[in-house]
Amino acid sequence: MSLLKVENVSKVYKSDRFLWGQQRITEAVKNVDLIIEEGTCLGLVGESGCGKSTLGKVILGLLKPNEGEVIFQGKNFCKSNGRRQYGLRRDLQVVFQDYSSSVNPKHNVEKIISEPIRNYLKLSPLEEKKKVLELLEIVGLNQNDIKKYPHQFSGGQLQRICIAKAIALKPKLIVLDEAISSLDVSVQAQILNLLLSLKEQFHLSYLFISHDIEAVSYIADRVAIMYLGRIVEEAENIKNLEEL
Ligand code: ADP
Ligand code: ADP
Repeated sequence: MSLLKVENVSKVYKSDRFLWGQQRITEAVKNVDLIIEEGTCLGLVGESGCGKSTLGKVILGLLKPNEGEVIFQGKNFCKSNGRRQYGLRRDLQVVFQDYSSSVNPKHNVEKIISEPIRNYLKLSPLEEKKKVLELLEIVGLNQNDIKKYPHQFSGGQLQRICIAKAIALKPKLIVLDEAISSLDVSVQAQILNLLLSLKEQFHLSYLFISHDIEAVSYIADRVAIMYLGRIVEEAENIKNLEEL
């Protein structure tokens, strides 16, 4: 059984404003099929505006598709009610591009990373702290960082904090939406390597969304190319695609 199956998904945005008496309609995603197998990384690449984020949000359950289905771990994501959908989120996490708005500036690192742990696991404060310290080590941060606040970190370190939060509950799939795009090039490489080692270590699967074909070819096992809302090409890693 595939971990994630996207079947014939379409998503249309309708603007509230009318132009010349006509409502503006954007067909952001058109009849997309995708499969992600357990333990693999699917790279989703395409130019800005082609519909990658929209597809990512449909997969995460943040947007309802107009058509089609998202099957995660054998369950229909779109048809499940709110509670079921929320329940599934434990195995499906996300890391966004905008790491600074993904963390609450008023919370320290301990509070930020322990949030999903507190929501889902019943641990004592001491066990909770131990888990946060473990996670900090796993993502390459200093254990002394636990009491620091977001403004005391660089972009790369903040993204490491977001990654620690995303892996805290040992999810099956992480959607990474332009997760390295705002970072300096040297830091991008470090984060890519961290993601690769976490994938091996915890048997994670990724949907790695990016406009950066080089980053995608570095991390992905399979690559899907999106163009104007459609998947126009899909193959084992990009290097194979270049030979076509
Ligand atoms: P990408 O992630 O590839 O940059 P997006 O999924 O963000 O693409 O956008 C796809 C298309 O949908 C674009 O034309 C974008 O302007 C439009 N779009 C995205 N979000 C919205 C929205 N909330 N309302 C209306 N149009 C949107
Ligand atoms: P990204 O390029 O990282 O996908 P954008 O800057 O395109 O993000 O979009 C930022 C936010 O604005 C997203 O939540 C997206 O859904 C929304 N958005 C994008 N395009 C439009 C649009 N044409 N109308 C309304 N909202 C949009």
